[in-house]
Amino acid sequence: MDRVVGQVVGFVVLLAVFTTLERAFALHKEQSVFRKGWRTDVAHFFLNRFLIDAGSFVVVVILAILLRWAVNGELQNFVAGQPWIVQFLEAVLIVNVVGYFAHRLSHTIPFLWKFHAIHHSSENLDWLAAARVHPVDQIISRAMMFVPLYVLGFSKEVFGAYVFFALLHAIFIHSNVRFRFKFLRGIITTPEYHRWHHSNHPEARNKNFAGELPLIDKIFGTYYLPEDNNAKKYGTDEPVPQGYFSQMKYPFRKTAI
Ligand SMILES: [Zn+2]
Ligand SMILES: [Zn+2]
Repeated sequence: MDRVVGQVVGFVVLLAVFTTLERAFALHKEQSVFRKGWRTDVAHFFLNRFLIDAGSFVVVVILAILLRWAVNGELQNFVAGQPWIVQFLEAVLIVNVVGYFAHRLSHTIPFLWKFHAIHHSSENLDWLAAARVHPVDQIISRAMMFVPLYVLGFSKEVFGAYVFFALLHAIFIHSNVRFRFKFLRGIITTPEYHRWHHSNHPEARNKNFAGELPLIDKIFGTYYLPEDNNAKKYGTDEPVPQGYFSQMKYPFRKTAI
């Protein structure tokens, strides 16, 4: 019950903060709060958290058992003995490298793309569009993050802090705000940066996979951020159904695999 209350409070706070920002500083000014698919995204916001948490818990327990052989007590003590902030920054770096490849694979392997396509099906981006994800897509990326952090011995608190930071940051980078945040270029991904990842422009295809660190895209040649241009069209080429339950079923459709 506490979690349901937390979800509702979180939704109301995010709605108040981001809707105010998006009304005042919209990039796509014509886009209404009640744009296409908003009901679907509200359903994703409220229902996915439980599915993702429950699914991740099962996967993480199985992985922890399977990976016991890889754990080195001395290494774990060293990692956990570092100052909290050092551990946090190391975790961000490690998760971004692993997450980069997980994300890139979800665009290249057709089976994984069917799950990830749900996130890319939004034709209008705003803070709420961040909630549109298939739980399986999220459980896979959560598991990929967990493996290195668990084996290396990062504390549960660091892992929890990272997940919280990543959730808030993901909401921020989907928001419909016109600020370019140029001072953050090269340091952390911004709404402008992530919009290109969602765009349907041929020049931005398979670009900007990084979660938080654009440096990873630079290293692997997938960085795209033109100086004075904005992405205008978002979505997928393939038709993805609009309703929440149809989106849940989409990757499992016979024709889809
Ligand atoms: Zn993607
Ligand atoms: Zn996104």
